[in-house]
Amino acid sequence: MVPFRQFLLKIHSRCNLACDYCYMYEGADQSWRDRPRLMALPTAGRTARRIAEHAAEHRLDEVAVVLHGGEPLLVGAAHLDALLGELASAGPRIRFSLQTNGLRLLDEPALLDVLHRYRVAVGVSLDGTRADHDRHRLLPSGAGSWARAAEAVRLLGSAEHRDLFAGLLCVVDLRADPVATYEALLEFSPPRLDLLLPHATWQTQPAGVRRTVPLAPPRGGEPAPYGEWLIAAFDRWYDAPRRETGVRLFEELAVLLLGGRAASEAVGLAPVDLVVVEADGTIEQADSLKVAFDGAAGTGLDVWRHGFAEAAAHPAFRARQRGLGGLGPVCAACPLARVCGGGLYAHRYAAGGAGGGAAGGVAEGAAGGAAGGFAHPSVYCADLDRLIRHIAGRLRADMAGLAGVTGSGRGG
Ligand code: SF4
Repeated sequence: MVPFRQFLLKIHSRCNLACDYCYMYEGADQSWRDRPRLMALPTAGRTARRIAEHAAEHRLDEVAVVLHGGEPLLVGAAHLDALLGELASAGPRIRFSLQTNGLRLLDEPALLDVLHRYRVAVGVSLDGTRADHDRHRLLPSGAGSWARAAEAVRLLGSAEHRDLFAGLLCVVDLRADPVATYEALLEFSPPRLDLLLPHATWQTQPAGVRRTVPLAPPRGGEPAPYGEWLIAAFDRWYDAPRRETGVRLFEELAVLLLGGRAASEAVGLAPVDLVVVEADGTIEQADSLKVAFDGAAGTGLDVWRHGFAEAAAHPAFRARQRGLGGLGPVCAACPLARVCGGGLYAHRYAAGGAGGGAAGGVAEGAAGGAAGGFAHPSVYCADLDRLIRHIAGRLRADMAGLAGVTGSGRGG
């Protein structure tokens, strides 16, 4: 059994923005409507004890706890302090992180004191330029949220709070210019960028493409607008005269191409080690699955009645821990499978059966089983193929320059 090392806690199940691409509130799964707003302290305490049990059972010296939402900072400074106190006191060493839209940092500065106290690494969602960000990330009034989010990022990047600043998370939009997006984010001097493909499936396809499930791995000629977008950003990042920031997707693909292992589940074949605990203590799979169908992330387990060992043994998690054996037939036959890994699990979803047989598209709206429905290539298959081959080509060209360097470094 692969133990969990990352525990994503939904400490607040509502949001103070109304982003049009939000998988939680706009996606197929609407279970948030039945959940309490806040994670109560007894739920946090119970979760902490379950984490401690799991860490002891698997001799994990350290685990990661990711505070998430909704918007996690809506809990307020006092409750955040109490939640972190419950979690920190339970057992193993915990690396805390939090993903936020940033706005609450401006409204309640005491939140920053709490984040410092528990050394919480803070990532902020910011979608590039003001115009691009404001196209999607809206305040409840319908106005754009860029100005306030940018102010929050500047605060986080100030000398006083810089040690909390983990980076920026940006969702790719084909209407945005990739280089302008990268450079707009770079203005905030983020330690790291996450460029995320928008959550999509074969049922709910990404904006700007209409694809059919492929019968075979890509041959390189397919339209790949998301791949091209990422390639333009990659080249701008890779060709910079000095290292400006890290870009997780590019770095992970480079590591995988050079024979290493990825740390995220977006690419590569590393077994999933992240589990979600909802505000009411329900144990779920990664949030991204909510884009697939109602209940896709569910396990039927909760921290009140079940330990994380039971979750780790659940077929839904096991399916995502089988490496190459967990991929559908098209991905398993793909020469890039070890690097691509079929992309993010949620993005493979198509209704009905094993992959590779749905030429002409898949039936809209039909429910698919978790195994068969995810046994397809990623809906971003052509894009991932294009990007990976491009990065491989750039690395190969650079490696060729090493041909004359001796291995020992002692000369000869
Ligand atoms: S999703 Fe990735 S591994 Fe699967 S066929 Fe496409 S490129 Fe290959």
